[in-house]
Amino acid sequence: MKRREFLSKAALGGIALGLAPQLSAIEQSLPVWCAPTTPMRGEKAGHGKGKMRLSFRPYELSLRHTFTVSSFSRNTTPTVQIGIDYEGYTGHGEASLPPYLGYTTEGTIQFLKKVDLEQFESPFLIEDILTYIDAIDSGESPAKAAIDIALHDLVGQLMGQPVYRLYGLNPKRCPSTSFTIGIDTPEVVREKTLECAGKFNVLKIKVGRSTDKEMVESIRSVTNLPLVVDANQGWTDREQALDMIFWLHEHGVLMAEQPMPKEQIDDTAWLTERSPIPIIADEACQRLCDINRLKGAYSGINIKLMKCTGIREAYKMMVYARAEGMKVMIGCMTETSCGVTAAASLSPLVDFADLDGNLLISNDLYEGVGLQGGKLTLPDRPGLGLKVL
Ligand code: MG
Repeated sequence: MKRREFLSKAALGGIALGLAPQLSAIEQSLPVWCAPTTPMRGEKAGHGKGKMRLSFRPYELSLRHTFTVSSFSRNTTPTVQIGIDYEGYTGHGEASLPPYLGYTTEGTIQFLKKVDLEQFESPFLIEDILTYIDAIDSGESPAKAAIDIALHDLVGQLMGQPVYRLYGLNPKRCPSTSFTIGIDTPEVVREKTLECAGKFNVLKIKVGRSTDKEMVESIRSVTNLPLVVDANQGWTDREQALDMIFWLHEHGVLMAEQPMPKEQIDDTAWLTERSPIPIIADEACQRLCDINRLKGAYSGINIKLMKCTGIREAYKMMVYARAEGMKVMIGCMTETSCGVTAAASLSPLVDFADLDGNLLISNDLYEGVGLQGGKLTLPDRPGLGLKVL
């Protein structure tokens, strides 16, 4: 095997196993006679000649349609876009900050100002870097996710490989993504459903209101596509929730997300035991450490990079949830194609994908993840494979 090939493979194995620091030792052990005369991509990072430099800027996403929940409406989502520069490459990342989650642009920027990436000799030290990032503050998950995403994008570019390949994943296994039909009058719901039905294989609706059945019936009057529902903690009576779930199941609903308040864990366990469809934790499940508490009470978890601090922890959550026999879903906030492509990179591992966040905005900054016949498609380019628009 040629040295370049060997280094690339050694680094690939290393990153998958969290063994990247060993790369330079492998290189040093190689005989001098096989050293190339020109520097190779994979070697640059291993040598640590350069320093990583972090930059960031606020960017407001414009929503295509007004986003309404019971308490408020909004037309924009604040984000902070970041870049990590290293030896001529730039890894892109983002923190999406929907106001209802309580994170702010100011808080995110304050956090990023504390980050010193120059102390690390190589971006391949992902585990070291992210452990350091996580210890800076107990919160600020979106800011941490931005660093994680940019770091994966950068390392993929340095290695000349897509991020999904760093995790050994088959892009052909990307699932269909659901697409959310907003709550509206029956006529508008029928119209919106007809528009979406040709492009998506699964539709999602928000439930937890008195008009839920009307909404489902409106959709069913124009399509038989499978549905998933998200109650966003909206049902507080477990008997009523179970009745509704049976009704939804009879109307082609495959899964219900966060039916009851996250605090009602015993009621949720009661519901999950009797439900004919999987019950998935969203608000109840933020990070890896939450899963232990949720097993038995929920059938599965909805992982979002902005909740769980990024790709690295999302992958660990998937592994742990699977080991506990739980289903795995991946979702997103309203994000550019940067954040959504990062999440989609792990989508070959999930049961349900809800990655429509980039489709909801009119001022995307990138071209990345795509859709073909309703299924997610990943760019076959290094890193996240983003094209700056
Ligand atoms: Mg949800």
